[in-house]
Amino acid sequence: SPIPDYLTEVLDVCGGDGSGELAAYIPELAQADPDRFALALATVDGATYAVGDADVAFSIQSISKPFAYALALAEHGLDAVLEKVGVEPSGDAFNELSLEIGTGRPFNPMINAGALTVHALIDDETVRRGFSAFAGRDLELDEEVFTSELETADRNRAIAFMLRSHGIVEKDAQEVVEGYTRQCSLLVTVRDLALMAATLANGGVHPVSGERVVPREVTRQVMAVMATCGMYDAAGDWFTSVGIPAKSGVAGGLIGALPGQAGLATFSPRLDRHGNSVRGVQVFERLSHDMGMHLMEVP
Ligand code: GLU
Repeated sequence: SPIPDYLTEVLDVCGGDGSGELAAYIPELAQADPDRFALALATVDGATYAVGDADVAFSIQSISKPFAYALALAEHGLDAVLEKVGVEPSGDAFNELSLEIGTGRPFNPMINAGALTVHALIDDETVRRGFSAFAGRDLELDEEVFTSELETADRNRAIAFMLRSHGIVEKDAQEVVEGYTRQCSLLVTVRDLALMAATLANGGVHPVSGERVVPREVTRQVMAVMATCGMYDAAGDWFTSVGIPAKSGVAGGLIGALPGQAGLATFSPRLDRHGNSVRGVQVFERLSHDMGMHLMEVP
C-alpha cells in the first residue's frame, strides 16, 4: 500500500519545524521529549496505518473531552446533558472561569468548565471502561502525570467550586477534579487515538473490535461540537483551513474525525500560543489539502 509511504513523507516534510513550547503548567509534561513525532490513520473499515513514534504513549489530556461527552450523552441522553452544558464556542481560554449568562451553564464541553461538568455526570469506571472500548484495548493511567497535575490543579478546583455554587455540579468538587484529572492522565498512542476517532467517524462502532461503544446519534453531536469548539480559541481558524472535526490536548496529541471515513491522530509536544500542537496542525493542513478532506469542499 502506498499509504505508509505517503504518511512518512508528510512527517518528513513537517518534521523540521522546531517552534512552539512544551506545556509547563503541568510540571510532568515539561519533562516530555519535544522531538517525538507520530501520525496514525484508521479507516472505518478497520485498516490502520501508523508512522514515526507511533508506540510512544502520552497522556490524553483534553482529547478526553469529546469521549467523556459521548459517554455522558449515551448514559443520560441529549436533553439532560444540554441542561448542564451548552454547545456554543466560548471564545475564551480553555481554563476560563466563565459561564453562560442566564442559564449558568458552561459554554461547551470542550472547555474545562464544561468538561468538569460532564465528568461529574459519569463515574470513573465508566470513563476508563468507555475510553478503553473506544480504543479497542485496556488503557492505563500515567500516575506521574496524574499526581503532578493534581498538585497544580488549583485553577480546575476554582472552576469546580464555581460550578457547585451555581448548582451545575452536585458532586464533591475535589472528587470531581480528581476524577477529571485521572481522565486526562490516561495513556494513549497515536494508534489508539486514531481508532478512538475512527469509532466516532464510524457512528459509534469500533472499526476493528466491532463493539458498539455509543449510539449513532451521539457521534453526530460530539463531532459537531468538535468542529465548532475543539481547537481552543483557534477553532474558527482550524475549521476554515482544515475543515475536520478535531480535538487537541496539552500533551501534544491531536485527533480528527472524518464522518463515515476515518480517524486521524498526530503527536508532537511543542504547542503554539493557542495550545495546539505546532507540527500536528501542519500535518492536518497537509493531509486535508492533499486528500481533499475539508468537509466544506464542494466535490
Ligand atoms: N488536564 C488539563 C487541564 O485541565 C487538560 C488541558 C488540555 O489538554 O487542554 O488543565
